[in-house]
Amino acid sequence: MPVPPAGPVAAPPGGAAPAVRLTAGFALAFLGVYLAVDWLTFIHPRPNLNITPWNPPAGLYLALLLRTGLRGVPLTFAALVAGDLAVRGHPASAASLVASNLVIVAGYAAAAHVLRHRVAIDPELSRVRDVGWLVGVTFLSAAAVAPAFVGVFVLDGAVAADDLPLFAFQYWLGDAIAIAVVTPVVLLLHRPGPPPLRLPAERPSAAQTAAMIAALAVVFLPIGGDRFNLFYVLFLPLVWVAVTRGLAGAVLAALVIQGGLIAGLQIIGFPLNAVVYHQTLMLALAITALFLGAVVSERRAVETRLREHEAELAHIARLAVTGEMASALAHELNQPLLAAISYTRAAQRLLDGADTPPRAQEFIDKAVAQAERAGEVVRGLRAFLRKGSPHLAPEAAADIVRETLALVRADATYNRVHLRVDVAEPLPPVLCDRIQVEQVLLNLLHNSIEAIAAADPPRREVVLSVRAADPAGVIFAVEDTGPGVVADMVDRLYSPFATTKPAGMGLGLPICRSIVESHGGRLWLAGTSAQGAVFHVFLPAAPP
Ligand code: ADP
Repeated sequence: MPVPPAGPVAAPPGGAAPAVRLTAGFALAFLGVYLAVDWLTFIHPRPNLNITPWNPPAGLYLALLLRTGLRGVPLTFAALVAGDLAVRGHPASAASLVASNLVIVAGYAAAAHVLRHRVAIDPELSRVRDVGWLVGVTFLSAAAVAPAFVGVFVLDGAVAADDLPLFAFQYWLGDAIAIAVVTPVVLLLHRPGPPPLRLPAERPSAAQTAAMIAALAVVFLPIGGDRFNLFYVLFLPLVWVAVTRGLAGAVLAALVIQGGLIAGLQIIGFPLNAVVYHQTLMLALAITALFLGAVVSERRAVETRLREHEAELAHIARLAVTGEMASALAHELNQPLLAAISYTRAAQRLLDGADTPPRAQEFIDKAVAQAERAGEVVRGLRAFLRKGSPHLAPEAAADIVRETLALVRADATYNRVHLRVDVAEPLPPVLCDRIQVEQVLLNLLHNSIEAIAAADPPRREVVLSVRAADPAGVIFAVEDTGPGVVADMVDRLYSPFATTKPAGMGLGLPICRSIVESHGGRLWLAGTSAQGAVFHVFLPAAPP
């Protein structure tokens, strides 16, 4: 299980886009969208061949393969065959229908495999690198698929061998544009969080949309005689959107412009060669949009991270000053407190047996108790502030669990709390100071037992579990059936002295967190509800 980022309550692990589950419902929906897009855009086909100068369906199945990997191959093949039969009216033999679609699926599944597993691109295309690999790998595989696809029809006798290079180029062009324009939009629509269409910061503004429409009008209306010469005007609104809205805005703008081009060319009925010429320009436009948008988005992300880091550093600096003051204060307070305790004890002894009012003894006892408690707080604070590096050694997580249990058993029995253990072997060894990690788990278990003892729920159970985690390491979990963490504590759990217990010190969790972090691990509240709380501790695995 991936380790979530820091925070009071963990976000869903990883923050990745929802996994695509290839259910029958999903498959039907995909086929429906695929056939609709195919039907809408299947215009200007080459005679004897289902090649058009645009092929948006390719953008759809590439996005599917990028999200699902090899699992998406059967659905892709089914969509291609359905498209040929229902929309395109396959012009050649059944064998060539199967062979040509197998060529497409094999080519793009291989590209998706390389992108997912070899280069491991981020499907949300958050970096320029991701866009670079997407364009590079898919354009190359399109260059392999295109001649193979046309070659099937040459072998079938439907196409003359001489036409292969030109047709293959047109095929490549249609697919390349689809990949540059449609795939990024689909990938971004499927990312976690609100899709770009719903985010005003990413969506082209009304003025920008108007500018795109105006630019399309300039290209299509017979202004200045030759329409082709004015294509470059389309770059202006596109660059405007990419620079101000980043990648999501840029790919949406490219999609709008491509849609406008298809519609415009369709309305004025251009000859096929003019369409191919326009599409070549469109490819340049789409690639510009992708890279410019990615540069802007990546830069913005870096700026945001920098700002966050600055805020974090300022916070740490403040904490360091506070820590030094607290350390000095703890040192200064310790001596007078110890002196006050001994003087009060001495006074108590002097008064012993003497004819003192009975309540005087009681008050002196209380004074001693309070001073001792203050001493404990000061000692706790000093322990918390003491900087000591742990003695690290590779340890078996199962041993840590076993020893911790032995230490906590008496407390659990006394409070009638049932302890359960769940060790999910195999577990990698962890590099840690065993005593310190046991202290952490012990503290979490004590908190759980105390929470149950105070709330007295019908089920009294604490589960200590450990399992392997990703990135390499283990996650210990302490789960209880107590009342959960009270709402206003959730954000303060790791602040020193934050406590809801009458005799609590509020140092347990801050100390635990600093121990875990000194091991390069994380401690977080993984869940809390009226049915209980769950704390997770991640520790990295020992290097092999
Ligand atoms: P202390 O135990 O001295 O209060 P901690 O730092 O260990 O200090 O805990 C801080 C607070 O977090 C507790 O006072 C309690 O309100 C809350 N807390 C910790 N663990 C649990 C738990 N398992 N269930 C409910 N609340 C918890």
